[in-house]
Amino acid sequence: MHARLTARADALESNIHKAAIGLAAFFGFGEYKRDTMSALVPTYARATLAFVKGEGVYLETAEGERYLDFGAGVAVASLGHAHPALVSALCEQAQALWHTSNLYSIPGQERLGERLAEATFADQVFFANSGAEAMECAVKMARKYHAAQGDGGRYRVITFEGAFHGRTLAMISAGGQEKHLEGFGPPVDGFDHVPLGDLGAVRNAITGETAAIAIEPLLGEGGVLTVSWKFLRDLRALADEKGILLIFDEVQTGIGRTGKLFAYEWAGMTPDIMAVAKGLGGGFPVGACLATGEAAQGLTAGSHGSTFGGNPLAMAVGNAVLDVVLAPGFLARVRDISVALKQKLAGLRDEFPDVIEEVRGEGLMIGLKCAVPNQRLIEALFEERLLTVPAGDNVVRLLPPLIVEPEHIDLACDRLGAACGAVSAALDRS
Ligand SMILES: *Cc1c(COP(=O)(O)O)cnc(C)c1O
Repeated sequence: MHARLTARADALESNIHKAAIGLAAFFGFGEYKRDTMSALVPTYARATLAFVKGEGVYLETAEGERYLDFGAGVAVASLGHAHPALVSALCEQAQALWHTSNLYSIPGQERLGERLAEATFADQVFFANSGAEAMECAVKMARKYHAAQGDGGRYRVITFEGAFHGRTLAMISAGGQEKHLEGFGPPVDGFDHVPLGDLGAVRNAITGETAAIAIEPLLGEGGVLTVSWKFLRDLRALADEKGILLIFDEVQTGIGRTGKLFAYEWAGMTPDIMAVAKGLGGGFPVGACLATGEAAQGLTAGSHGSTFGGNPLAMAVGNAVLDVVLAPGFLARVRDISVALKQKLAGLRDEFPDVIEEVRGEGLMIGLKCAVPNQRLIEALFEERLLTVPAGDNVVRLLPPLIVEPEHIDLACDRLGAACGAVSAALDRS
C-alpha cells in the first residue's frame, strides 16, 4: 500500500516536473527561472539565483557576484541592506527581549506609535505584520466606525480597478483582480470597484451601505499608475460630503518612497485611515494602520488584535528606520535623487522608444512602461546585474533603496542603456 502510494507520488512528481520544465521552456524563461521542483508551494515564479549577503544597494550571491538592487525587495529595504543603524537596533533588542504579547505594554510600540502620529495626520496606530493585515484593519475600522455611530448597515468599501491591497481573502476581493480571485470561490462581499480616476463613478457607487473609499495614492502593483493630486482632494471632499471615510493604502508609497514621508502630503490633504507596511521595517516584517481618533473610535478593547503585531523586535527596527528617514534633509535628498534619475530615464526613453514607452511615478517609485514584454527587459537587466520588479500594465518598476547615491543612479542608467540596447538589437534581428 505504502509502496504503491509512493510510486504513484513519484510518477505524479515526475509528471509535474516535466510539465514545469515544459512550461518554463514554453515561456522562454531559460536560465532565469527555476525549473526544478522544491518542497515549497510553487506560488512564486522565482529567479534561479539566491543572495546570501547584502550591503547598501548591493546584493551578493554565494559566488560573490554583486547585483545592483533597484527592487529593494519590492520597496521594503528602504534603507538598503545591512544598514548599521538597523542591524544594531535589532541586535540590541534581540539581546534584551523578543516577545511579550499585547497583554502587556510594549515601550517600543508606544514610542513608534507616538512618532508616527506626530509625523502624520493620525492620532492612533494599530500594529500588524504585513500590508494585507494593515489594510484588513483599515477596512474593519471603517466598518466599526459606522457601527459605533449606529449605522452598521454601512459596510461596503469602494476600491479602484487595477488596485492591489494584499492577498488575504478579503484583500483579493478588495483588489478585485480576476487573476488573484480565480479558483478561490466567491469573493468576500463588501467591495465595489470603479475605474481609476473617475470621480463620477465613485459618486454613483456610493449608497447608504457605503462605509469608505480606499485607494493607493500611486498604484504600485498595478503598474505605477498615477491619479492626479486633485483627484485625491476630490475624493476627500466627496467622502466628507457623504459622511464616509477615506482610506489610503500607503503600504508601498509610505515611509519616504515618493520623496515625502507619505504620498498624501503631495496631494495637500489627509485621509482618515492609512495602511503602512513595506518600508517601515526596512526588511523586518511590520505593518501599521494609522487613523484619526474619530475614525478609530469603533475599535475598542477586544475588537481587534494580532499576536505578533507590534512585537519588540519589529518596533526596535521601525523606530530605527524613522530615526534615519525623519533626519533633517533625508527626504529632500530622496527628491533630488529622483529628479536626477527621472532625467536620465527620460533620455533613455528618447534613445530607445522601441523598448521604453513612458517613464512615470514619483520619488523613487518609478515605472517604465515597456514597448516590449516587460519580462524581456527585466531579464536583460538581470544579465546586466541590475535588479528590478515587474508590475501590471507591462511595467518595470525601479524601487531603489532610499539611501541610493548619485553614482548608483549613473551606474543603473548605464546598465539600463546596455539592456535596452540588447533588447532593441534583438528586435531588429527578429
Ligand atoms: C505590497 C502591498 C500590499 C500587501 O502587503 P503584504 O505585506 O504583502 O501583505 C498591500 N497594498 C499595497 C499597496 C502593496 O504594495
